[in-house]
Amino acid sequence: MAKIALFPGSFDPMTNGHLDTVQRASQLFDKVIVAVMTNTAKKPLFSSDERVALIEAATADLPNVSVVAQAGKLTVDFAHEMDAKFIIRGLRNANDLAYEADIARVNAVLDQSIETVFLLADPAYLSVSSSMIKEVATFGGDVSALVPPAVVQALKQRLGGNHEA
Ligand code: ADP
Repeated sequence: MAKIALFPGSFDPMTNGHLDTVQRASQLFDKVIVAVMTNTAKKPLFSSDERVALIEAATADLPNVSVVAQAGKLTVDFAHEMDAKFIIRGLRNANDLAYEADIARVNAVLDQSIETVFLLADPAYLSVSSSMIKEVATFGGDVSALVPPAVVQALKQRLGGNHEA
């Protein structure tokens, strides 16, 4: 049976940290589905369709990766629908671990057949978060080393700013 993994997140927008996690997951699983989820606690800069398009552009060279938008459903229910037995999450630090471990335990109670797999963030992207990227881009900082090229363009269009490239 094909090993299918769901990588859920806000991805507002995708960063190189997220992309690195997707690339590594694509080596581990037969198929990786990146799911752009609606996080009720966060007000997004990009619509879910925009976020999907940005992730599709960044993962176009990964044939076993697909991208979907998903709102209003439990992650485990959606994983079930997609035949995904694994949920991927990235860990940057101990705060991420505490937060992610709680979610993974709740998901395990909700559906025992789904395993959450954690991938440690690449040290190069330990401090990279979508919110940090938006903050820097708002004030015209150059984020081109930290996000995929399509995201650089999208941030420029959305936020303006006076940074190059
Ligand atoms: P959420 O709102 O669901 O936390 P995010 O888009 O912020 O969505 O993050 C999605 C996943 O990617 C989370 O597991 C998060 O810990 C992980 N992640 C965020 N930034 C990085 C990074 N720089 N490197 C690796 N993983 C990351």
